[in-house]
Amino acid sequence: EHTDGNEEENPPIIPTLSVDSDDKKTTRNDDAEPIQIVSIGTEDDKYAFDFHEEKLNSIMRKIPPGWKVSVISVVGAFRTGKSFLLTWFLTYLNELKKRGSAELIDDEDQKWFERIESIGNDAFHWKGGADRDTTGIWMWSQPHFVKMKNGESLAIILVDSQGMFDNETTMSLTSAIFGLSTLLSSYQIYNVDKRIQEDNLQQLALFSEYARLAVEGTDDSSSPAQQKTAKTVDRKPFQTMEFLVRDWQHFDDEEDYDRMEEEMKEYMDKVIAEREAKDLQETREQIQACFEKTTCFGLSHPGMPVIKKNFQGEVSKMDETFLNLLDRYCKRVFSVDNLKPKVIHGREVTAVELGSYIKAYAEMFASGASFPEASTMLEATATANNSNAVNLAVNQYKDFMNRISGPSCNNFIKHKELEDDHKHLLTKAMNMFDSMATFGSRQSIEVARQSVLDVIDKEFEVYTSLNEGRNPLAGLETYIIPLTIALV
Ligand code: GDP
Repeated sequence: EHTDGNEEENPPIIPTLSVDSDDKKTTRNDDAEPIQIVSIGTEDDKYAFDFHEEKLNSIMRKIPPGWKVSVISVVGAFRTGKSFLLTWFLTYLNELKKRGSAELIDDEDQKWFERIESIGNDAFHWKGGADRDTTGIWMWSQPHFVKMKNGESLAIILVDSQGMFDNETTMSLTSAIFGLSTLLSSYQIYNVDKRIQEDNLQQLALFSEYARLAVEGTDDSSSPAQQKTAKTVDRKPFQTMEFLVRDWQHFDDEEDYDRMEEEMKEYMDKVIAEREAKDLQETREQIQACFEKTTCFGLSHPGMPVIKKNFQGEVSKMDETFLNLLDRYCKRVFSVDNLKPKVIHGREVTAVELGSYIKAYAEMFASGASFPEASTMLEATATANNSNAVNLAVNQYKDFMNRISGPSCNNFIKHKELEDDHKHLLTKAMNMFDSMATFGSRQSIEVARQSVLDVIDKEFEVYTSLNEGRNPLAGLETYIIPLTIALV
């Protein structure tokens, strides 16, 4: 457990999965579990989005302040093996932690996963119990921590998003789930059965307008005449979108894994290649404008025992090719070369920042029956960005002022000195705010900026009076001054 916000020392060791004494069978022995952060249906409306802020915060609080966050999300229809995949991810991450390495190296005569008897059956409830067959977004309660090559620590959060992609009446709900999970993730895994279909691609194109606006700058529809503040940067709003094709049926040769990965790439190129039909072509262009990377990975069929009812997660019952591909897949997703912090408008976000974005996005989906307008999405992003900028600027000011004149200080400082420090730190805080609050309407940036000034102003009063309380001459003045006058 971490106790302070000290960045690089002692990354917290947080239990996720543990290993039995015989060092064979992986089981869970703690209370880590999937937590539903978005559920569907409220008392008034059975299709409404219900966002559970406190649950999200309980997860974010486990990440030390200042650490960046990578969000690996899996989205797809029911019963397509998402939970199975997530359970495998947990097993993989646990093994990494147990070995204390950045990569899983196989033993001389055995692959690492052959030493694991079973992946268990309760981690992400991947057996698909009846109660899990509901639409919504889940997050694993325990973040995992890795050290990146540059020495920075990174928290990894796993997300499972479930929709009903096959049911007409819930199409807009599914788009909303899909939309929210894309907005909050840095690595979106779109789990599909056997092949990538045109409607899978169309789901991605939902964001194209957002992408266009985000790249062009800011749309301030409330006051079009106002000067735009956003810098025009040619940047794609989302990071990785990866199709994970289950029960892949295209492989020529099930022995040569490098060749198989090449085939996956060829397949993706074909799917995304130019089309004659205008609408199909547009969908493809829109996707490319939204995501930095659109890739594809294929897993072969896991073997008949895996799909039987009595399957308990036994690794020995899984098909060998499937296992090897799964292992390659984990290495691709979790290798320190590929892991990236979540980036929103060019900024790598910390847990606290990500929390405000998720909240803003979830509320945006909660308030409308249909997929939000691009400008609404951009506005939510700008609002969260402004409030993050306010918090960072104010906290920076308070951190320094606390050291000089906080409640735990003993020394009195001359008022002029305190005021000089305050002025200097205020400038620093405003510079920080200005460097971060760079998009959204000028008006809302101004409002946020003013609130930094107001909060710091109030804080300064508190520091001044705390300092005055430590003044050894305080109180004495009442006597000394009249006395001096009397003497004169
Ligand atoms: P979820 O509803 O998408 O989370 O799906 P589950 O992970 O619960 O898996 C549903 C069923 O499919 C279970 O019986 C799994 O054992 C089985 N399953 C898991 N992975 C695969 C796969 O890659 N292919 C096939 N055909 N079945 C799988």
